[in-house]
Amino acid sequence: MKLSQIGEFGFIERFSKRFANISSNNAMGIGDDCAILPLDENYEQVVTTDLLIEDIHFLRSAISPGDLGYKALAVNLSDIAAMGAQPTASFLSIAIPSDTDVEYLDEIMQGYHELSTKYNVPLLGGDTTKSPDKLVINVCVMGKIQKGKSRRRSMAQPGDVICVTGPLGDSAAGLKMILNNIRPDNESKELIRWHNRPEPGINEGLWLAKQDGTKAMMDLSDGVASDLRHIMKQSKVGATIDIEKIPISEALKATAAKQNWEPEVLALTGGEDYRLMLTLDKDKSTEIIDRYNQQFPHPLTTIGEITESENHEIRWIKNNQSFKLTKEGFNHFGHQ
Ligand code: ADP
Ligand code: MG
Repeated sequence: MKLSQIGEFGFIERFSKRFANISSNNAMGIGDDCAILPLDENYEQVVTTDLLIEDIHFLRSAISPGDLGYKALAVNLSDIAAMGAQPTASFLSIAIPSDTDVEYLDEIMQGYHELSTKYNVPLLGGDTTKSPDKLVINVCVMGKIQKGKSRRRSMAQPGDVICVTGPLGDSAAGLKMILNNIRPDNESKELIRWHNRPEPGINEGLWLAKQDGTKAMMDLSDGVASDLRHIMKQSKVGATIDIEKIPISEALKATAAKQNWEPEVLALTGGEDYRLMLTLDKDKSTEIIDRYNQQFPHPLTTIGEITESENHEIRWIKNNQSFKLTKEGFNHFGHQ
């Protein structure tokens, strides 16, 4: 059997069961944005790691080394944000082809350092080695949070409202521009900027985890259509998403109109937005959203609701009608 037949998550499921025989000593592992380990009486530690491979996750010709260093750390900090935790340390392992210019590497580290400084995350170790021809970057970040306060994918309940912390689809549109060699104008260059240099929602995650009404939380790395399924599966719930409520940036609206793209499809199926997706207790949601919106630049936007459902299908609604979402776009239910 080939990996392509079971996919990334099929592979993870296959081997994770095998490790059930080893006691985790009250740690919680595979399946959330971070692992959670007991730290002391008052705190827990969260840990995440992510791998970036040249020509799979980035093209050297399409991202500056400074942005690459920034992004390598950002995608990990985003997983820390998704738990609602404070990052405390990072580790960087890098495999480098030997003909790489040192100046190029200096710039990677300059970008990595810039983001480390912004959130006060010391670089405490890593590994450096030669690679035959591709650049490989692996980052591990640790964080800490008050005991029992981290937000897991399993915490959603029927009736919760589903929210996102910023516009969706910018990164996917930026990638599409890069791959199709579309020359950026003033507006669309923002899309490429977000793709190459996403900002982790650390402050947003910390704030949200302090609110009692915040239930499940995760970061959007694969798009709502795929990521929401993790919350549904782990919380054993369903979801209805209102397509009209999906926040779309002005830059994406303008670029999609010019390129004849469907912005909602990019917003829901595109990856690497690194916005947070969370569920809120319905009764507390209005008040939480009001207070959130007073302090963060992008409004917390409600896009749907958690429902009672055994099968993990998402109901996509627009103008009170149900749609089916495929890679090609939205299809009217029953008219496939
Ligand atoms: P994220 O996108 O937030 O990094 P994923 O949904 O990609 O998380 O990963 C699902 C879960 O599987 C995570 O908890 C991750 O730590 C775990 N995981 C992925 N690959 C491996 C691996 N090779 N070994 C152990 N755990 C893994
Ligand atoms: Mg994640």
